This record gives sequence, structure tokens and C-alpha cells, in this order.
Amino acid sequence: MKSFWNEDEAAGFKDDPLAMRVYTSRLLGRNPDLVLHGGGNTSVKVRQKNIFGEEEELLLVKGSGWDLATIEAEGFAPVRMETLLKLAELPELSDSDMVKNQRMAMTNPSAPNPSVEAILHAIIPFKYVDHTHADAVVALSNTPEGEKIINEVYGDTVLVVPYVMPGFVLARKIYEMTKDLDWSSIEGMILLHHGVFTFADDAGSSYEKMIELVSKAEAYMEQKGLEDLPEEPAEDPDPEVLADIRKSVSHTAGMAMLSRLDQRPQAIGFSKLGDIRNIADRGPLTPDHIIRTKRTPVVIGDNITSSMDRFTAEYTSYFNRYNSGETMLDTAPRWGILPGHGTLSFGPSVKHVTIIEDIAEHTREAIYKAEQLGGWTALSEKDLFEMEYWELEQAKLKKAGAPKPFQGKIALVTGAASGIGKACVNALVAAGATVAALDIDNAVGQAFDDKSVTGIQCDMTKTEEVDNALKFVVSMFGGLDMIVSNAGIFPPSSRIEKMTEETWSKSLELNLTSHQRLLTMALPFLKHGIDPSVVIVGSKNVPAPGPGAGAYSVAKAGLAQLVRVAALELGEYGIRVNVVHPNAVYDTAIWTDEVLKARASHYGLSVEEYKTNNVLKKEVTSADVATLVATMLGEVFSKTTGAQVPIDGGNERVI
Ligand code: ZN
Repeated sequence: MKSFWNEDEAAGFKDDPLAMRVYTSRLLGRNPDLVLHGGGNTSVKVRQKNIFGEEEELLLVKGSGWDLATIEAEGFAPVRMETLLKLAELPELSDSDMVKNQRMAMTNPSAPNPSVEAILHAIIPFKYVDHTHADAVVALSNTPEGEKIINEVYGDTVLVVPYVMPGFVLARKIYEMTKDLDWSSIEGMILLHHGVFTFADDAGSSYEKMIELVSKAEAYMEQKGLEDLPEEPAEDPDPEVLADIRKSVSHTAGMAMLSRLDQRPQAIGFSKLGDIRNIADRGPLTPDHIIRTKRTPVVIGDNITSSMDRFTAEYTSYFNRYNSGETMLDTAPRWGILPGHGTLSFGPSVKHVTIIEDIAEHTREAIYKAEQLGGWTALSEKDLFEMEYWELEQAKLKKAGAPKPFQGKIALVTGAASGIGKACVNALVAAGATVAALDIDNAVGQAFDDKSVTGIQCDMTKTEEVDNALKFVVSMFGGLDMIVSNAGIFPPSSRIEKMTEETWSKSLELNLTSHQRLLTMALPFLKHGIDPSVVIVGSKNVPAPGPGAGAYSVAKAGLAQLVRVAALELGEYGIRVNVVHPNAVYDTAIWTDEVLKARASHYGLSVEEYKTNNVLKKEVTSADVATLVATMLGEVFSKTTGAQVPIDGGNERVI
């Protein structure tokens, strides 16, 4: 394990204990083998004067909801040491009393809730305290001989603490265990099935001790000749199977979920292990992962529905075995194993599935190592149940608030790099969707600064490129629910008399045929979609064509007819297909100020008059079109299909 400590960097913080605390917390957070997504916590003890000039000793401890990798000074909650030390002496303390009293002892009411380990940090008599859930240490401890191995690795240089629930119970246990302890005789504490604590009066030493203790566990594994997971090449999975899995998970969860396939060589190696069912059934890497991953993954067999039903049945009976009045969470898995093809992570957003994918990556490696040390032995079901249904853990999840309308839903937008397409991507993301943004322009890869959008370069007139894009979307997100078929071109004005074959066929190829191609190729996935819906971007030229725009108007009219036939054919699958007819949307790249001025003066109008030259005298923007498109994809239009909706400020020829 590499130390990231840098003397020069650290020198900048030596006079500010909190800045130094931020610095080494981030060093810990930088290494995912130490700290993963909110795992671990740190603190520093300082003396500060209050408003009356009285000096108080405070524990500045990581606040709930902050991540060590990105924590800032305001991520540390200031809690009076006097209160924390008194709380540690109580024989019992309920979770709600702990949270309440810790909050009352804070000197800044707007700081975050202190970590559930605040009392434990307080009783450790050193200025800096570091705590991680290091993979290597936990993997050694999650074996049948775990305690023996830990003793063998560390001797009496550490205090070994048997597993108890984190929070007050753990603080109390360590308080009892250390009453007569000479703290200077130990380098740290190993908490079985949980993690590591180190401490020192200077930040650098506490951090280096952490690196040292974890390195010892890693060295033990190396010395035992433990092998890494075998790497296996990816085999293309059937995308319809992936879409079916995602539909089944969403159905079980009672909400739309994404499903991402991890096809990295080690994920595939793990999924091919002969005893994968048995290994996968024993529990998570550390107990705090359970709120994100549930106790076990689902192992997908030949029949997806029965695999999911079996998971639900097992989860329900696990709940019933330990339930003492709690309400059961949904019974859907949060990660899975697709034997031969890798691991899957499930969640309502890209952020969620990424976190779960990271946890799964570390878990499968630790499991494989522990198997070589006698067998993966996670905590008992009962301990895990207590953690999963612990109100303080569930409170972390509830903070998320009410879901957005398209949470967990997957959309594909074409012609997405600019104009109406780009506005549609933004509108869908704002409504909670995960979006694949396709465009022939490779700028689409950088066009969106949001984790929910993946830009994919794709020429919609090329069957192979569309096929690849769809397969990519299904492996990244699990399926497809919504399509905004928008890609198009406006060919140069040409009367029929002068029409070239190229102008005509180019327009029909992109403005008509490519939409049919996408619809045809996406259908197998839309059939597995959740409230599947398609909006095609047509044009005012359909009901009100103009001279010189034959190649364009005919293609768009064909598109409107395609929508009508598709609505008739796809209704039986619950797929809605509608079309919008925008007109005079001028806030796009082609309408530069110069072009606008020229067009306006051609009609003897000011630019403003030209832009609002419609019945309502209102300018139509691409954001307006996008709002309508998102509305048509959603609940409001859930009983409408085959409709043609104009968005043009009112056009006399259309009306
Ligand atoms: Zn912990």
C-alpha cells in the first residue's frame, strides 16, 4: 500500500489542524482499497474559544454524508468533547438519544450530523484519529481463522476488537476494553469484520500508521501466495437478456432501475467461478455496504423470472427470520452475477450503479482471496440484518428526497449535440432520466457535463453504427424506455424542376429512413421498456409545406405517416409513438445573427418581428420544444399515441 503523504504539500497545513485533517482525510479517500464511497471516517481534537472567551475542547469529526475523498473543512462537525466523553460512560444510549445529544453538543448548528463513530473517536486519547474499512484487513478477518490470522499478522501491536454494531455499542465496548490500556503500547485497533483505527498526535503519523497496518495485511496475502481473480475475455451477451433482467429488477423494486453490466476481465473471471452460487451467498465485504448492495447478489440462471423470484423469496424469509417490527424494504437485488458474462449493478441513477459497481469490484476480489484462506466468512445474517435495518443507516438513504418523474428511466436522443436534440437531453436529465446522446458529430462526447448523459458518436444512416450504439446503451444502462428521434438535415432549397438525385436521396435517407431504422432496431428493447414511448421530431412543413423544400417536406411527411403506422402496430406492446411539429426555432447553431438579419430584412421585418411572426407573437425556443417532448414522453401523454402536436406559436396555415 502506497503512502501519498507529501512533505511539501503537508507543510502548507502545519499551522492549521483542520486543514491538515482535510489533507490527510483526502489522502485516505484517494485510495479505494482503503475507503470506498462514504466508508471510513476521521477526526481531529482542537481547543477553541467560544463567544464568551471560554476555551473548549472540540472533536471535529467527519459529518454524515461527506466522502473522505472530497471532504472540505465544513464537512467536519464540531462537537464538545466533554459531552462525548460523558456519553461514553453511560451504560446504555439509544440511537435517537445519541444523535440528539451529539447535535446538542455541536458548536455550529448548521454543521452536518457527526459520524455515528463520534463517541469512539472522542475516547481515543490522541489528536488525530483515522478509520478505514481497508479491503486487505477485512478480507483476512472475513475467514474462518480470521482472528487467528489477525493475531499472527499484528501480534500485540494492535488491539483486536470482536464485531459489535457500530455506533454507541462499539464505542462503549472499546471504552470498556481500554480502561486499563496503555494506549502508547499499540499502533492501532483492528475491528473484526469491520476495519482499522490508527491514531497519533500528528496527522502524518496517524496516516502512515494506517498505511503500515494495511501493508502488513497485504504482505501476509502475498507471502501466502494468494492469487488474484483470473481474468477472462468478454463474450457478447444477448442484449435482450440484459433488457429482460433490468425489467425484472425494476418490476421487483417497484420502480425503474438501471442495470449495468461489468464486463471487465476480472468480473467475467469471477462470474465463471465454479462455485459462484455458494460463494455469492455468504454476505458483503463490510457491514456498511449492505444498505447499498443488500446482503447477497442475485445469481441469474436460465430463467430470469425464477431467478428474481428466488431472490425475493430468500430475502423475504431472511427478513422474517430477524424482523422485530421493521417495515420490509423492496425485495429487489442491488447487484447480480450473470454467469459467464460478468457482474451487474442495479440502481435508480448512474451515480448509484457506479457506487455499487465499485463495491462489487472490491467485494469479488476480497471474496476470492478469502476463499484461498479457508473460505469467505462474512458476518452472521443477524448482525447484517441489524445493520441493514439500523435507523441511522436507513436515514442516509432517505435523505435523497422524492424521486424525479424519469428516475431510473433510459432515453436515447439522436441529433443530440446541438439545437433541439441538445435541449431534449437537458430536459430529460432535469426530469431524472439517464440519457444516451447520439450524434454524428463527435463533439457530443464532450457536450454534456453530467454523469447521467453518455455521448455516443453515431451516424444514424449506418446500420452497424446504430446496432453498436444500441448494444452499448443496453450493456451500460440495461435497456431503453424512451426515444427522441430528432436527427435531421435541412437540404438546400431546390424546386422539383431542378432537384438532383443527391439532394433528394440524402434527405430521405436521414430525414425518413434513418428514423424507421432506429425504430425497427430499438423495438426489441422498447418492448422490454418501462412505459415505453417515442417522440419523433417532424416539422411544420408536414401540414404546411413550402415551395423549394420538396426533399425536406416529403421526408417529414413520410415520417408523420411512419408515426401513425407505428402507433397502430406498437400499441399492443404499450409503446406510444407521437410526433411534434416545431417551426421557426431560431436559437440553434445554423441561425447566426447574420442569417437572421438577412432573412428578416428579406421579409421587411425586424429580427424580433421575424422571430415572433406567428399567431401568438411568441418566439419558440429549442427549450420550449424540449419541454413539450419531455411532457409527451411522460405521464401526461400516457393515454395518447399517434398524435401530431405543433409547437410553432400558432400558424395560420396549420390551424
Ligand atoms: Zn467503520
